[in-house]
Amino acid sequence: MNEQPNNAGSPDQPYPTENQPTLLPSNIRSLKDLIDTVTGKYLMDESEVGESGFVDQQPFPFLALVGQKEMKLALLLNLINPAIGGVLLLGPRGTGKTTAVRSLANLTPRIPRSLCYYGCTEQDVEAQGIDAICPACAKKFGEGKSLTQMEEVRLVELPLNAQIEDVVGGIDERAAIHQRMRLKRGILSQADRNILYVDEVNLLDDDIINAILDASAMGTYTVRRGPISSTYFARFSLVGSMNPEEGALRPQIMDRFGLRILVDGLEDPQERWIAYQHVDQYRRSPNAMLADYQEQSQFARTEVQHARDLLPTVQIPATVAKAGLHLIQVLEIASLRAEISLFEASKAYAAADNRSIVEVADLEVIAPMALRMRRSAFMSQYFADQQQEDQRLRENLKQITKELLEH
Ligand SMILES: [Zn+2]
Repeated sequence: MNEQPNNAGSPDQPYPTENQPTLLPSNIRSLKDLIDTVTGKYLMDESEVGESGFVDQQPFPFLALVGQKEMKLALLLNLINPAIGGVLLLGPRGTGKTTAVRSLANLTPRIPRSLCYYGCTEQDVEAQGIDAICPACAKKFGEGKSLTQMEEVRLVELPLNAQIEDVVGGIDERAAIHQRMRLKRGILSQADRNILYVDEVNLLDDDIINAILDASAMGTYTVRRGPISSTYFARFSLVGSMNPEEGALRPQIMDRFGLRILVDGLEDPQERWIAYQHVDQYRRSPNAMLADYQEQSQFARTEVQHARDLLPTVQIPATVAKAGLHLIQVLEIASLRAEISLFEASKAYAAADNRSIVEVADLEVIAPMALRMRRSAFMSQYFADQQQEDQRLRENLKQITKELLEH
C-alpha cells in the first residue's frame, strides 16, 4: 500500500511519546515498518497486566505492547497467512502472552463470513463444487443468494475447563427434549475463519488437543453421535500458549505449531517503565487509550488486509528455496512442517513489507521462529544408532559371504 498516512511527527521526533501515541511517523510505509517502529522504540510487554486482569470488551491496543518483537511479528504473520500453521507462545506468567493475543482484535481483517450453521461459503463451491456445501446453502446458491456477509475475524478462546463435547460439539440436549436428535456446534466450528486461542495448551487432555490439531490441519471435522453425524468447517488460525514451568508439551504436538516463540520478560528498565505507563493508562481509561491508538491501529488493520490480498502473488525464487532447504538439512530436521512454516511465514513477511518476492533476508528473520525446537535429539540418535547397526550388519554379511566363497 503506497498511501502515506497523515504525518504530524517531525523527522527529529520520529516516534510518538507515550503520552501522545496517536500519529504515524513519516517513515512508515508498510506493516513491517510499523512493527519495526513500535517494537524498537516505545512499546510494551505488560508484565504488570497479568494473564487475566482485564475483561477484554476493549482489548489492549496491539500497538501499545512494548518490546516482544518476535511475538508480535509471529501473531501478525499468522493473521496474514493461516497456512503458517499457527503460533505457540512459550514463556513464564505475566509476560503478556494472553494480552497480546487478545489485542489482535484491534487488527483483524474483514472476511466473508458464512450465514449458515455449517459454515458454507461461496469459496467452498468454487474450490470443491456444489457438494461441498449443505443442501440449504446449495439451494440459496442456485437462487443467486449470498451465503456470506463481510465481518471481522474474531478471537475465539478455548475455556480452560473445556470438555471434548464443548470442543467438537455433541447432542443438542434441548432438541433431545423434543424427541429430536440434533448435534450442537462445538468451539472448533465457531472458530471457523477466526483465530482460536488455546491457553495452557500443555495442560489439555490428549483427546482435546488432538481434536484441535486435526481440525486445524484438515480445515474440517466430523462428529458422530449414535445414528447421526455432522461435518463442520474449522479453518482457523491457531494460537497456543504455555508456561514451560508447568509441564512439557509432547514433541509431536510441538511440531504441529508453525511458529514457536520464546516470550521472556522485558529486561530493559526503561521499557518496563513505558510498559507500566501504558498499562496504567489503559487501566484508567481503556476507551481513551484505544482512541489514542485508533489511527495507528486502523493503518495496521488496512495493511494486514493488504498483505493478505498480496499474499497469493508472492513468489519464492529458486535460490531462496534452495537456501531454506539447505538450512533445514543442516539442522537435521525431519518434519516436513519445517519448510511449510518457513516458506509460508516468509511469504507473509514479504507481503507485510509490500513485496511479492521472498528474499534470503526474509528467511533469516523467519527461520528461528519456524525451525527452533523441531530437531529431535532422540530421533537423530535413533537414526544414527540404526545406521551403525546397518553398517555392522553389512560388514558382517560381506565377511561371511567372502569366507563362504573362499571355502
Ligand atoms: Zn450451509
